[in-house]
Amino acid sequence: MEDIIENLKEELQMVYADILELAPQVFQEKIMDCTNVVTAQEYKGKKQEFIDLVLNETEVSDNQYKYKFSPTGYCPLCHRGADIQYESGFILPEGMIRHLKGSHGARQCAIIKALDKVAKYYIKLQDGHNA
Ligand SMILES: [Zn+2]
Repeated sequence: MEDIIENLKEELQMVYADILELAPQVFQEKIMDCTNVVTAQEYKGKKQEFIDLVLNETEVSDNQYKYKFSPTGYCPLCHRGADIQYESGFILPEGMIRHLKGSHGARQCAIIKALDKVAKYYIKLQDGHNA
């Protein structure tokens, strides 16, 4: 039973790593950087840099002032927009930040979610080495 669980954990890690490879090329270097961490604190800082990069790379949708006079854009990582109200992506920057962080009940970006899982895995491994 324990073997099965270990195998599943390993496979899950591989799936998360595969998800990260689906992110556009422009983000790959930063993603690598985020997974090359030792402590949770270090990851937090690198993840914030990554989120800033994602916001910088977000293209504002053409019909940007259709809603609430705020620009909108699709997530450059997973290409999603908000589920209901907004047809042309997320409101920038707040809506996009919520999507990236999975805050305020927003459905989190699959790429960032995978990044969190992979980073946590490495941080845990490192903890094991230090113990
Ligand atoms: Zn996304």
